[in-house]
Amino acid sequence: MKKNDFQILNNLLNSEPAFRRKQVFQALFNCQKNDWKQVTNISKQLRKNLTEQYGWLNVELSELLEDPQEQTYKVVLKLSDGLLVESALMLNNKGNYTACLSSQIGCSIKCIFCASGKHGLKRNLTDREIVDQFLFWNHFIYKKNPEKTVSNIVFMGMGDPLLNYNGVCNAVNTIISHTTLGPHNITVSTIGLKQPMEKLLSDPLWPKVRFAVSLHSAIDSVRQKLVPTIKDHASFLLFLKKWSKEYFKRFNHRQQRLCYECVLLKGINDDSKNAQALLEFCKEVYDIRLRVNLIPFNTTDDQLISPSRKTIEAFQNTLRNGGIHCFIRKSKGQNIQAACGQLVSSKQKNL
Ligand code: SAH
Repeated sequence: MKKNDFQILNNLLNSEPAFRRKQVFQALFNCQKNDWKQVTNISKQLRKNLTEQYGWLNVELSELLEDPQEQTYKVVLKLSDGLLVESALMLNNKGNYTACLSSQIGCSIKCIFCASGKHGLKRNLTDREIVDQFLFWNHFIYKKNPEKTVSNIVFMGMGDPLLNYNGVCNAVNTIISHTTLGPHNITVSTIGLKQPMEKLLSDPLWPKVRFAVSLHSAIDSVRQKLVPTIKDHASFLLFLKKWSKEYFKRFNHRQQRLCYECVLLKGINDDSKNAQALLEFCKEVYDIRLRVNLIPFNTTDDQLISPSRKTIEAFQNTLRNGGIHCFIRKSKGQNIQAACGQLVSSKQKNL
């Protein structure tokens, strides 16, 4: 397969002066241009080299699902090796858009309720393929309304971003350097992996993005049922408590956020015992910047059911009454199979 990461672009620009490098990246991040031929402030030869050796966007639209009323969009993008990846876009409360990006094709974790893991992991996305999803959405929005842009990014698409540490780190740093987005406009969501979580606390290259850990339950035996491929949830829960306190200390900006996410499933992790255990857990790491997000289950499976609204609200009240900022995530995109991996999964079934 032809290489398709940012290294190619960096190599092409190696002998160019810094201002030229800036012009090239500006052109790429500027949604008014669609290929190098339109970038007339650089030499013809460089335009030719960029066209032949790098290309423009390396993702091609394969399928678009939209819910114009909710302004939620989901695409399947085809990569240069023919593999498919999902990416989504939602209107946010700032009146701009949040892009939900994938970091891997498929996923090796296999949470029981998630469609991304159904076909296993195919490969990591390159830094460029991650940035190209972001650029794809900016072009998409520009055509609809040039006043709007992607103002926020969440890594909540396919895969686990911490299993593609370098790819995600480079992609985020590239986006931060060439746009007005800052690290607090970006959230990385992970199932929780000790080694990369420890690493990022002292890694000068890791951008100070917001963080979400998919906790699902603070009871180890329940978490084991939900995420069976990971072993020793008891020791992870102890680790997470310590790590969370350290995270708040190291990343001490008031805009920093750490969010524990829980996908609630009827009869599995939605009862008062789970709510109480989560409350005790949160109290131990308490910080004003801690959040709990309850995610209503988006159906991917006939066996699993979302709890009723009343049950989810009772769960939320337990946490709120205990002094924890707890929100029920608004469920968007149900009409367009917007839960992780659902669309590629259904496409693969049909292949
Ligand atoms: N691997 C990362 C990113 C996953 S997607 C992680 O585990 O955090 C982001 C969130 O969506 C995760 O909390 C994940 O558990 C949740 N999710 C996955 N499938 C879902 C579904 N069918 N319904 C609701 N939430 C889902």
